[in-house]
Amino acid sequence: MKTRIGLLYGGKSAEHKVSMQTALAVTKALDFEKFEIYPIYITEEGEWVKGPQLGAPAENVKALEFSDNSNLPTPSFTPALFQAGGAESGKTLDVIFPLLHGPNGEDGTVQGLLELLNLPYVGNGVLASAAGMDKIVMKNVFAQAGLPQVDYVSALRTEWEKDSEKVYAQVEERLGYPCFVKPANLGSSVGISKASNKQELEEAFKEAFQFDRKIIIEQGVVAREIEIGVLGNDEPECSVVGEIVPKKDFYDYKAKYEDGDTAMIIPAEITDQQYADLKEMAITAFKALDCSGLVRADFFLTKDGQLLINEVNTMPGFTPFSMFPLLWKHTGVEYPQLIEKLVNLGIQRHAEKQ
Ligand code: ADP
Ligand code: MG
Ligand code: MG
Repeated sequence: MKTRIGLLYGGKSAEHKVSMQTALAVTKALDFEKFEIYPIYITEEGEWVKGPQLGAPAENVKALEFSDNSNLPTPSFTPALFQAGGAESGKTLDVIFPLLHGPNGEDGTVQGLLELLNLPYVGNGVLASAAGMDKIVMKNVFAQAGLPQVDYVSALRTEWEKDSEKVYAQVEERLGYPCFVKPANLGSSVGISKASNKQELEEAFKEAFQFDRKIIIEQGVVAREIEIGVLGNDEPECSVVGEIVPKKDFYDYKAKYEDGDTAMIIPAEITDQQYADLKEMAITAFKALDCSGLVRADFFLTKDGQLLINEVNTMPGFTPFSMFPLLWKHTGVEYPQLIEKLVNLGIQRHAEKQ
């Protein structure tokens, strides 16, 4: 019998379009002898819409276009959304593949919904997704696990509104310049700035607080940016290592999605010892956050050879040209195989929980 996959994509986030591209790439890569695909599209306004079942790859492009159509079917938000062919069919989807990034997708909220519906799903669970989305919680967990990272402080909007000078003084005393100011819960570099003096720090705070009530301020490092893929549940495995070389000052939103001139080097040139250390640190991070399915773990490699963990992304970019799938391709796992592995890991994890 074919496995019925619900593809959850789109979403109310800055990465809506990226998610649509990913959904298209995934449907093209899936083997229709083995899978039936049911698109579930979340509009930019946050409405959930169920698409027609896709029977063959040739239909994909056309069928996915319904999401761009002003003639959308009536939005519904009931478990019928998660049934193959509507409530009357009585057939439930076997597994949901959330191809969503950022808040309301990668942060545990959708995962919580799927838990409540008792549906198997691909990728990280509620805890790992939520903790991985909150850079402060994530770094606190990493610190507890003994992982080396840059020094950081956090601030609440209310604290800052009450006495901004006190907060700035704390940053200057503890971290100095340059430092990076980031909203706690976001991705894609949205709201992140580098501050090299007090004036820039003030600007950076204003910017970051537009996106969150909580921000993190980190010591700035001059370092290479190294990324590694982790795949699995209780016995995760690591991919080869890649390097991101932004042409700009840092890997900001424009460099990620608009300029396209950031170089990706796979495999990255590092020593065998550094590779061994990276794998160990990535697995430690994966386990510390209780991850499952996949993460892309991102590191800084400083001039003096020190490895610092920057973050894990619990739903990393997933088009065939994104770092995570490319890392696995270089490790010997092609895109269609990677998707199948993830689907099976999701089903397995659900079965093990019962
Ligand atoms: P996101 O989750 O949005 O990707 P990151 O924490 O990875 O946020 O920051 C985005 C980019 O900003 C990084 O890829 C890096 O280029 C730069 N950056 C972030 N933090 C630091 C830091 N502490 N020192 C130097 N560069 C940093
Ligand atoms: Mg991130
Ligand atoms: Mg990042």
